[in-house]
Amino acid sequence: MSAYPTTSREIRLASRPFGWPVPGNFRLSESAVPPLADGEILVRNLAMSVDPYMRGRMNDVKSYRPPFALDAVLDGGAVGEVIASRSERRREGDVVVHGLGWREYAVVAATATKKVDTSLARPSAFLGALGMTGLTAYAGLTRVAAFAPGDTVFVSAAAGAVGSLAGQLARVLGAERVIGSAGSAAKAAHLRELGFDAAFNYHDGPARDLLADVLGPGRGIDVYFDNVGGEQLEAAISLANPFGRIALCGAISAYNATAAPHGPRNLASAIGKQLTLRGFLVTAHQDLAGEFAEKMAGWLAAGQIRFDETVVHGLENAPAAFIDLLRGANTGKMVIQLQW
Ligand code: NDP
Repeated sequence: MSAYPTTSREIRLASRPFGWPVPGNFRLSESAVPPLADGEILVRNLAMSVDPYMRGRMNDVKSYRPPFALDAVLDGGAVGEVIASRSERRREGDVVVHGLGWREYAVVAATATKKVDTSLARPSAFLGALGMTGLTAYAGLTRVAAFAPGDTVFVSAAAGAVGSLAGQLARVLGAERVIGSAGSAAKAAHLRELGFDAAFNYHDGPARDLLADVLGPGRGIDVYFDNVGGEQLEAAISLANPFGRIALCGAISAYNATAAPHGPRNLASAIGKQLTLRGFLVTAHQDLAGEFAEKMAGWLAAGQIRFDETVVHGLENAPAAFIDLLRGANTGKMVIQLQW
């Protein structure tokens, strides 16, 4: 049994970023760990997630999630081991996913945690392929974009956490062709290793030209899994087949923008082509979590889907890892390992 810790280190939002976040926007602090109330558990976090959506929560604007409070401890996905419990739902030794990351120890209501089976994969996988990230890819592709076997699928930020899974899912589910874009030649090469049929580095020229090039003359896309918005969304609308479907998952190209972001300027062509553009939040698709978890565990065990992690060690390095994520330093899921 681990001793009850007296203090926990944590990361606070010291100031709100304007444009790109900088290390000075974050502050490392240490606080007393309170005793547990009835129904609560104490979790020693093993790993925590940094995610692009957190950038939006650093702005003081109304959105689908409330902004982070200034000088408060940040929060987000984490996985950890229960080291004390005042709930019948969780025992010491259970490994749980919960929402109080950015800290070493979390006092959390047992009802706000999900127990995970670490015989399936290492704990951090439940923040990525077997967690919210994987469900985003699955729900976005199969429900929101209404993927059907034989579709030609384009995925942006395809070497990232959601994108790499969305592309591989399309492959496993019978896509005609899967095309990915990413921010370097090395990432594009990696996508081909993951089973994408074609990939391009979006820095190599106008997105429409690069996408048209890999598609070949007269060929279009049926599904676009959009992680980035802007120029690549415009390119996908331009090269979509009639009745094409676009899942609007993220718009990372605009998350640090200080001026009006790029396009799409060709939205009107969605009318003639009768396209569907549908935004979504993974939180609205939790009903798919059960079927997703079962299928994904099978695909991972069979080696049909692979997932990468870019691992950064230490809570104190989490802010830099978050900033690096926004700049594309990661391949697959960016994970902060807190215990190793
Ligand atoms: P990723 O692992 O994909 O990391 C972000 C990636 O974005 C970077 O690695 C970088 O890769 C790429 N990127 C950064 N700037 C740009 C740019 N200007 N243009 C194109 N690509 C860029 O993160 P996630 O997989 O966690 O998230 C992917 C997207 O999905 C995000 O937009 C996120 O907000 C969204 N999301 C949405 C959810 C929902 O419920 N709707 C849930 C989870 C995520 P590169 O080197 O290729 O540039």
